[in-house]
Amino acid sequence: MPITLRVVRSGAPVEALSLVAALTLAASAAVHAQACPDVADLLLRNGRIHTMADEPGTEPVIFSSIRILGDRVARLGAPGVRDLGQTDCTEVIDLEGRTVIPGIIDNHNHIVLLGLRPGHDTRLESARSIDDALAMLAARAAEVPRGEWITSIGGFDLPQLGGRFPAATELDRAVPDHPVYLQISFTGPGATNSAGRAFLAERGIDIGADGAIAGGGFGGASAATRTLHALRQLQTLDDQKRGTQDAMRYAASVGVTTHVDDGGFPAAGNDTDGAAHFDPYRAYDALLALHAEGALTNRIRINFLHMEADPATPELVARLNNVFPEFGDAMLRTLGIGEFTAGTSPMILQATPEWLAGTRRVAEAGWRNENHSLTQGDFPVIIDGWQQVHDDLPAPGISNLRWVVAHAPFITREYADKLRALGGGVSVLGGWRYISGTAQQNGPPFRMLAASGIPMGMSSDGMQIAPMNPWLGLYYVVTGMNAQGELINADQTLPRREALALYTQANGWFLGEEEDLGTLEPGKYADLLVLSADYFDEQAVADEAIRDLRPLLTMVGGKIVHGDPDAL
Ligand SMILES: [Zn+2]
Repeated sequence: MPITLRVVRSGAPVEALSLVAALTLAASAAVHAQACPDVADLLLRNGRIHTMADEPGTEPVIFSSIRILGDRVARLGAPGVRDLGQTDCTEVIDLEGRTVIPGIIDNHNHIVLLGLRPGHDTRLESARSIDDALAMLAARAAEVPRGEWITSIGGFDLPQLGGRFPAATELDRAVPDHPVYLQISFTGPGATNSAGRAFLAERGIDIGADGAIAGGGFGGASAATRTLHALRQLQTLDDQKRGTQDAMRYAASVGVTTHVDDGGFPAAGNDTDGAAHFDPYRAYDALLALHAEGALTNRIRINFLHMEADPATPELVARLNNVFPEFGDAMLRTLGIGEFTAGTSPMILQATPEWLAGTRRVAEAGWRNENHSLTQGDFPVIIDGWQQVHDDLPAPGISNLRWVVAHAPFITREYADKLRALGGGVSVLGGWRYISGTAQQNGPPFRMLAASGIPMGMSSDGMQIAPMNPWLGLYYVVTGMNAQGELINADQTLPRREALALYTQANGWFLGEEEDLGTLEPGKYADLLVLSADYFDEQAVADEAIRDLRPLLTMVGGKIVHGDPDAL
């Protein structure tokens, strides 16, 4: 009987001409194909691996190696342990002593809106001067076809650029071959260059002599919102898919691997819409298309934002009746309602009938819910209103639903305790205060909240008023300093490890995925960062330099989504 060997990977039978040839072929196939299953099998060794699984306040265990099988962590090795069950199929990456941490989970941001930005978005959030901003725009323009828009809408603020936009002449020098549109916040103001002016002037939009584009208030048209509208008219679904991929690529480059998206304002579809408005019915088209193609490189969780004046909240009712909460897969899942439930104001300063009715409906449906707090006056309204809804429901009320108050710069211990008793948590942010905070507009009270014992996790609230870059947020938590170097949150800082725990370990709870995400432990997803320097070493990385930390390598579910292991 002739000997027939089968190379498993190709599936093609190999007829044996001689026994020696057959055995030689079999041996090489066994090493390179036959024995190697088609899943990621990685060993990262010779590193300083912080799992972030240790109890706060205890001395952390630092591992030196980590084995990844498929999309999960298989084993961790203490220093000196060389055998993690690796085989000839295991790809080995030498970390050369570098620090590894879990991927950053941003528990409240607006990644979907960032993906929908018109033009080729350029994040200026880490710029510290006009020259920085111009260099970032020039670098972006170099990779974009001539004539296409270079934009940067939200995520940065003028104080970090020395108090002004770049002038049109400066933009022309840095980006001569592309129209440029820069805008802060939701509705401007903004700025453009000569090529941008030509396009916008044709559409009757007023541009100042130095390229300035006036902003406006919420719900009205201004030169800035007219510009947004004109640029959105140019967009196709393919542009939105590219923008969404760019947004995920940026996130991976700063170390964010998972996002909770907290929606957008319902768009009017005209020239009054700001940067945070989207069509609530079509906003997820690009994301869903990329998900179907297997092209998502970050994990995204969706909260549905609802704003409506009618106390019958028909849109919210339809959502609760027709959408599955916490449905999806490891890359894309629906989560709950947020960051608004009902009503028309982004400031929840009174418990209006529609807000109370909508809140009650979310509770009755057993969904998660999130509302934001920005002032001294809104968190008592929210938490007392939630208490009222809870008290009206049969036990356990909302206590198992993990409702979240987000941002909460001024929340008090009294209300943190009330929310904790309701089973809720607080999402705190840092980057917003870093770029725009003052001695009066400071907080959140990180230290008070940590002492209270309420679940507290960190977010950026990027991309309109705040930067996504988590290193800016961590810098603010650790130092209490804003971008101008003013100490504005001195009494409420946290040590580095506790700060990072808010962005990793603590955020598993906010996703409802603490069994899968937030720490590097066997059985959890292999989402990790290999850092450019050791965040935990205060000698090697001074406080000022926390802002400059970046991942050299970012991994999501065992796949490298940023960086090159050969360049470590
Ligand atoms: Zn938000």
